[in-house]
Amino acid sequence: MNAALSSVEVSSAAGDPGMLAGAARLAAAYLQQIGSRRVFPSADDIRALDQLGGALPEEPAPPGVVVGLLDRIGSAATVGLGGGRYFGFVNGGVLPSALAADWIASAWGQNVALRVMSPAATALEDTALRWVVEILGLPESCGGALVTGATMGNFTGLAAARHALLERAGWDVENDGLFGAPPLKVIVGDEVHVSVTKALGMVGLGRQRVRRVPVDGQGRILVDMLPPLDDRTIVCIQAGNVNTGAFDPAREICLRAREANAWVHVDGAFGIWAAASPSHRYLTDGFANADSWSTDAHKWPNAGYDCGIALVRDPRALRSAMSVTSSYFNTSESREPAQYGPDMSRRARGVVLWSALRSLGRSGLTALIDRTCRHAQAFAAGLRNHGYEILNDVVINQVLVSFGSPAVTRRVVDGVQQDGVCWCGITEWQGHTAMRISVSSWATTREDVETSIAAIHRIARECQDR
Ligand SMILES: *Cc1c(COP(=O)(O)O)cnc(C)c1O
Repeated sequence: MNAALSSVEVSSAAGDPGMLAGAARLAAAYLQQIGSRRVFPSADDIRALDQLGGALPEEPAPPGVVVGLLDRIGSAATVGLGGGRYFGFVNGGVLPSALAADWIASAWGQNVALRVMSPAATALEDTALRWVVEILGLPESCGGALVTGATMGNFTGLAAARHALLERAGWDVENDGLFGAPPLKVIVGDEVHVSVTKALGMVGLGRQRVRRVPVDGQGRILVDMLPPLDDRTIVCIQAGNVNTGAFDPAREICLRAREANAWVHVDGAFGIWAAASPSHRYLTDGFANADSWSTDAHKWPNAGYDCGIALVRDPRALRSAMSVTSSYFNTSESREPAQYGPDMSRRARGVVLWSALRSLGRSGLTALIDRTCRHAQAFAAGLRNHGYEILNDVVINQVLVSFGSPAVTRRVVDGVQQDGVCWCGITEWQGHTAMRISVSSWATTREDVETSIAAIHRIARECQDR
């Protein structure tokens, strides 16, 4: 055995403190040097992943050897989401409190399907969900589920909507399915996120069987273009467009929906957290009047991956859509997680969410939201000063930049991604090719922003000289 592989002293005994402490040391060392590494791994580091492939070895390996392999080969090929200079997609980092809690939660190894399986994990999950409802200013009585991400949050909210609207029409969709059911109408903005479209497909409402409403230059639904609503209509709106960060005019849409007895579902994957900031809360005006919400704590709150949230105004609708009954599946009067979400067995993600929120506190969450928004403003101002065009109104943490022609912008983004100082994505925004900058990490500092602006400018100049 290659000695370099055994970077952790090993024993296969469960809970061996030496092995676990060794793994924690490697993880801490990884995080300590993340700021000085390339944000995206080199081609060599990616190729080295082949060493982790091949056929499953016949012989077992000590856990420490396995962890050593992950550290030596895996770590080098990771993307630096945990550092301060990753601005791709809307990917948050992981707060230290969330990371440490994740380790504890993994040590606990709880299954959160039922309360009887884990009083600790379900109690923490209940509290975390209540805190989220409070932070977002949603109705106290909301039913909730912790899911993997906002895609599943959209799925869960739409399943509750489907239940409620069809029940009113005298149709039992959970038992009888959609075959022969009264048709439901679905309305989305033209800038609907693909995850809503996917979720509509998964709940049988159809990806394309939707009415798309035109949007303005920021991607917001034009209210005057809304078709008439009725009690068989689901309107999907968004808090935080994935490109511009813009918010649909929720107050007016929810008002119209309420009058027509229609259902409003909110995709608030990241943007809805603006409600935690007194200076950005105005953007979320009216969203609390919707019927269901999907969001992610792994994005703006930096609670670590696998932390989506579904909330439904009428908990009964959510429970009806998700309930399970079985002779061995006892249920209490309290909220049983498996009765409110798509999963049965799952990890104790509520423990991590609780810890992230508990460590931030209200003011810490506000500071995180405000700080990332200020960084986005700094990106926009800095790049505009260098002569580049900012394509969106920077209202939260999203910035769209054009460097000239589509070809030049594409070259700049490619160059930045190769360069390694920071990482930004590419997008098409209403006919323009743009670099997409999302400042979503707790770890990003003003210095990270300045370093990244300088790198982007250096690369853009090289591209324009060519
Ligand atoms: C990220 C995102 C989603 C999907 O969330 P996942 O956690 O990746 O499933 C949905 N809508 C918007 C606006 C998003 O930004």
